[in-house]
Amino acid sequence: MADLRLPTNTIVRPDKDRFLDEDNPFESMMSRFDRAAELLDLEPGIYKVLRSAEKEISVSIPVMMDNGEVEVFTGIRVLHNTSRGPAKGGIRFDMNVNLDEVRALAAWMTWKCAVVNIPFGGAKGGVICDPLKMSVGELERVTRRYTAGIIATLGPDSDVPAPDVNTNERVMAWLMDTYSMHVGHTVNAVTTGKPVEMGGSLGRREATGRGVMITTIESLNHLKMEVKGATVAVQGFGNVGSIGAQLLAREGCKVVAISDRTGGWHNARGIDVDDAIAYVKKHRSLEGYGKGDAITNEQLLELEVDVLVPAALENVITTKNARNIKAKIICEGANGPTTANADAILDEKGIFIPPDILANAGGVTVSYFEWVQNRGGYYWTEQLVNERLRDIMVNSFRDVLKLSQQHKVNMRTAAYMVAISRVSTVHRLRGIYA
Ligand code: GLU
Repeated sequence: MADLRLPTNTIVRPDKDRFLDEDNPFESMMSRFDRAAELLDLEPGIYKVLRSAEKEISVSIPVMMDNGEVEVFTGIRVLHNTSRGPAKGGIRFDMNVNLDEVRALAAWMTWKCAVVNIPFGGAKGGVICDPLKMSVGELERVTRRYTAGIIATLGPDSDVPAPDVNTNERVMAWLMDTYSMHVGHTVNAVTTGKPVEMGGSLGRREATGRGVMITTIESLNHLKMEVKGATVAVQGFGNVGSIGAQLLAREGCKVVAISDRTGGWHNARGIDVDDAIAYVKKHRSLEGYGKGDAITNEQLLELEVDVLVPAALENVITTKNARNIKAKIICEGANGPTTANADAILDEKGIFIPPDILANAGGVTVSYFEWVQNRGGYYWTEQLVNERLRDIMVNSFRDVLKLSQQHKVNMRTAAYMVAISRVSTVHRLRGIYA
């Protein structure tokens, strides 16, 4: 094949030895990107294109609160890259949302979709708010006004949101309805993670946790560790952590610790995950669960277990605690749970880490299935969804593992290499429009 590389001009890459701001997920993401780009010998033109987001939107969201007062929230949507297809990525409602975080999360979506080779680019959105302190009516009004604010970018061919931290099927239903009202007809493919009754895919709710389970089992098998009885600690008991824990327990693993924002529980004899899920359904959190010893989220990360699943938020494994981590496998259910500065310490300790952009890609994979089903108007059985998800997760794991062995790099760098080379190939083929 002809050399498709774009003409180059020299650029100065960021100072690789500069100590990163560990708390900034954008810097963590970029330093991993830089490393993989260097190993791939990526030409400067594409390097520059991929370092910046295509579009960043910030909107103010005035909302009439239940007490009759107007509150103004800030909403963000970042489209990192759409070369391989419509932008895809969740929307989170959280007080910690900020532009740098959303930028990092959007780029991670580009890499994630490329690692599992689904035809999407990457995006992310967020609204700075505390949904736990808001009524259902207030949440609906925030969702609808945010949707109206970013409507120009949304669409099944351009930008397709999904649930993320503190958002769910109900939020996606409001988003889909608002969009449909604006364009004048029902467009269910504008978002994924919808209720099944209105075009959501069977298996979507469980998909991220299922992908985490599949990746964990592949990792255990690769390391020739026994699945039955493997001990697991899971940080975060939302959609990803609770389902991941439940499915791992069904495979015979022993879940010995779980946690959420209220703290954690450790029980060396094993935690009955179904029982914990039922408790959270009733009490909204693990507070007061009591079937084990109370531990902090920090303590959970340092437990002597075979597998650690960080499935909550970014930046929980840092230079401050990486040396104390005892798990043999860290399966990253969350996006960005490990800072880039902690990578080297974990490598030194020989911990096997299927990274976020691989391990938690089950969610967006079934989002892709949902979008395909919506566009085809033909719906699959849950069994078919789960079988196709398994195929994609297992094949992606093996692709990344193979590259990591070939290049003698860790799984994270290999995953970035797979992703960046897929995205950059498309950029070379498409060329630069002038
Ligand atoms: N929010 C999920 C993620 O971070 C799912 C995104 C999607 O399905 O578009 O991967």
